[in-house]
Amino acid sequence: MLVSACLGGVDCYYKGGNRAIPELKTLVDSKRAIAICPEVLGGLPVPREEAQIADASGKDVLAGNAKVITRTGRDVTDNFIRGALHAKEKALREKVDLAILKARSPSCGKGNIYDGTFSGRLRNGNGLFAELLMKEGIKVLTEEEYIKKEGEDIA
Ligand code: SF4
Repeated sequence: MLVSACLGGVDCYYKGGNRAIPELKTLVDSKRAIAICPEVLGGLPVPREEAQIADASGKDVLAGNAKVITRTGRDVTDNFIRGALHAKEKALREKVDLAILKARSPSCGKGNIYDGTFSGRLRNGNGLFAELLMKEGIKVLTEEEYIKKEGEDIA
């Protein structure tokens, strides 16, 4: 199992710090899940400037048809692609079959991602890393879907 590193308690979130969810941090701490941050693997620092895919999806970026741009207009597409590919290789090496990824992120988001306007608006699509994992047949859930599912299992 794999989790977005920020959800597992690793200080890799773009603003600095993490977005830990206790259940997911426990899985990482007990080595039942590996924590991966594709953006850090792509060479980006912590903290780093917020970046979004400009009016397109991770699939479009991977196909060379769209770019990842920071709030001040810097093109970080190469970092995002390199990081997502590196992270996917790690996931395949570890034989991951389930990934819990941070909702709405341009790397980790599944189903909905920010639309590139930095206004909080969403559009359909997956982040680059989520797209690559799903293409490999790895099941991807957002942390919101995972928590909801756990709640249903317990109920
Ligand atoms: S790239 Fe993914 S793991 Fe890294 S900080 Fe963003 S959401 Fe978290």
